[in-house]
Amino acid sequence: MRVLIIEDEKKIAEFIKRGLKEEGYTVDIANNAEKGHFSATTQEYDLIILDLMLPDGDGITLCRKLRDEKFTKPILMLTAKGTVKDKVTGLDAGANDYLTKPFAFEEFLARVRALMRKSDSEQTTKLLVADLVLDLLSHKVTRAGKEIDLTSKEYALLEYFMRNAGQVVTRTMISEHVWDINFDTFTNVIDVYINYLRNKIDEGFNVKLIHTLRGRGYILKE
Ligand code: CA
Repeated sequence: MRVLIIEDEKKIAEFIKRGLKEEGYTVDIANNAEKGHFSATTQEYDLIILDLMLPDGDGITLCRKLRDEKFTKPILMLTAKGTVKDKVTGLDAGANDYLTKPFAFEEFLARVRALMRKSDSEQTTKLLVADLVLDLLSHKVTRAGKEIDLTSKEYALLEYFMRNAGQVVTRTMISEHVWDINFDTFTNVIDVYINYLRNKIDEGFNVKLIHTLRGRGYILKE
């Protein structure tokens, strides 16, 4: 899951980025409204964290603009202000949720997870494919009941595969959702990570779940 943080306060942006990365999210930062708008409209994001006060504009206007341009993914608005009026204005501008700074990172993460669930129109906290189970809350992954230890990148890749189970996933799709804006298209890093994942998910099991479709990409299915 790829997240864009639009926030000019470097410390806060880096703090959120670090925390989200530890949870397996892929994160980019834009430090003003113009860069934020550019990234949001030229890259694929599953969620936007939007600060209300930006040096070249405000989050409300940017949020409205993105919604007018048919940006449908969830937007979580951050602000130092916390009055009822500000919250109402933010939500009316098209934000899905609102969090007042300073906030506890635990609460922030819970809100992010809730927004992701809503956008999937699923209320489940577990993803299942055959005997493979991924718990979105604890990040525990098991196959046939056996726990599998994954790095945060491997986890992010598997989560993306499981959210798109039964569908062809191309390298471009993977690079757009699991890698950040600095992804180098000329490396074979995706293939390398898919091999790591295969070794952990499929090695030793009769039924393989990750399949390569030559020239097209990959598919996760039974
Ligand atoms: Ca700010």
